[in-house]
Amino acid sequence: MTMILPHIEKMPGYVEGVMPSAGTKAIRLNLNESPYPPSPHVQSALQEIGEEVLRRYPDSRCEQLRAELAAKYGVKAEQTFCANGSSEIISLIMKVFVGPEGKIALPDPSFPLYHSVAAGYQAKCIAVPTREDFSIDVDKLRETGAQAVVVVNPNAPTGLMLAKTELIRLLESMDGLVIVDEAYMDFADSDESVISLVDQYPNLLVLRTFSKSYGLCGVRVGYGFADERLITALEKAKDVYNVDAIARHLALAALRDQSYMKETTGRIKRTRAVFSKQLESLGFSVIPSQTNFILCQPPAKAEGQSARELYEKLMEQGIYVRYYQLPRLADMLRITVGTEAEMEEVYAALSRMIE
Ligand SMILES: *Cc1c(COP(=O)(O)O)cnc(C)c1O
Repeated sequence: MTMILPHIEKMPGYVEGVMPSAGTKAIRLNLNESPYPPSPHVQSALQEIGEEVLRRYPDSRCEQLRAELAAKYGVKAEQTFCANGSSEIISLIMKVFVGPEGKIALPDPSFPLYHSVAAGYQAKCIAVPTREDFSIDVDKLRETGAQAVVVVNPNAPTGLMLAKTELIRLLESMDGLVIVDEAYMDFADSDESVISLVDQYPNLLVLRTFSKSYGLCGVRVGYGFADERLITALEKAKDVYNVDAIARHLALAALRDQSYMKETTGRIKRTRAVFSKQLESLGFSVIPSQTNFILCQPPAKAEGQSARELYEKLMEQGIYVRYYQLPRLADMLRITVGTEAEMEEVYAALSRMIE
């Protein structure tokens, strides 16, 4: 008896960025984490947690956090959903809207987690190539005939934004579900969010997370917005207590400190601009980023300076960036934007390698 279902046995599983071992000095720029601590209000909220919060079941619908998210985005609480990271919502999408032998379409390149999660639910995830310049062709997504399509906006790992008008065109022309994953929208220069459209389009589901712009990767809270009918379906299918009592308490504290989130994302955006210029001065091609990471292509003239070699040499110096062994990304690096000081170190290290 193998005990393990064949589709699980076969699936490759999600490959995350290399984690430097605990205690080693490392500049970690491969997981798109924030280089800044979360709001100081989050630390205070953590201190406030009393024994009763630990002993009682939390309310399964996460009412308070939902209500405050709904108020911030001008939608109804019934159109709002909270989860154990937005990754849980990605799993629920497969479980609730796609299913075994169902089809979901996603641009390529984009966030690889959709592929591994789909495989776990025996769903077919169709990769739709982006154009030469990595821009997303929404018509090609629709033409797959998939019952659900995903647009990560701005996209990962490219950092490119798709205009809201293009998403509206997709929503107008699709009967099926349109998922817009806005994990990085808080880092964008112009707000192309489609959250305000959930009233108008019953086939729209928007995903967000506290991981990136609020600096709470470790706490695991994601959220989503959609028509009430879709939210009710997600509520039925989720784990009953999917957002733990501590996590929701901390997320709430982070949400209430918008000025801190704007300040830290603002700093990251300024560092992104400076570091992009520095990369260009070294001869890199840089895709203009609307996120907290930069996809770039090294000049690759001399031996020992390919993306892969630079990735390995940086790692030897304790600088972790992301390298994808994939056809369209094999000559590129994805570098998360850290603090000013960290990026100066990366620039210095790359300058030595490129010279
Ligand atoms: C990081 C990321 C997520 C997952 O976020 P969690 O809330 O930490 O699960 C979802 N989508 C994209 C595109 C991401 O980059």
